[in-house]
Amino acid sequence: MRVSVDTGRCVGAAQCSRVEPELFDQDDDEGVVLLLTPHPPASLQAGARTAADICPVRAITIEEPTAGFESASSGPGHHPTSDSHVHCQ
Ligand code: SF4
Repeated sequence: MRVSVDTGRCVGAAQCSRVEPELFDQDDDEGVVLLLTPHPPASLQAGARTAADICPVRAITIEEPTAGFESASSGPGHHPTSDSHVHCQ
């Protein structure tokens, strides 16, 4: 998971730091969000998703790893014999 924040959009509502204070903090000067790490450990990822959901201005973006590709490539693969699929004219 990768987390990013748009501080230009943030309005300092502090919802995120209340939900997951180990991942989000507030800038003392400007009051906008401070992201403590862009790659949260598994224990903080549920909180990161919740924070992104409840942020009133959608300033938090979550990028999930594309695990689907890995599982697809580890499947049975395609069969080299394609004789049965040949369409004769
Ligand atoms: S919840 Fe959204 S608007 Fe509020 S501080 Fe966090 S990022 Fe900023």
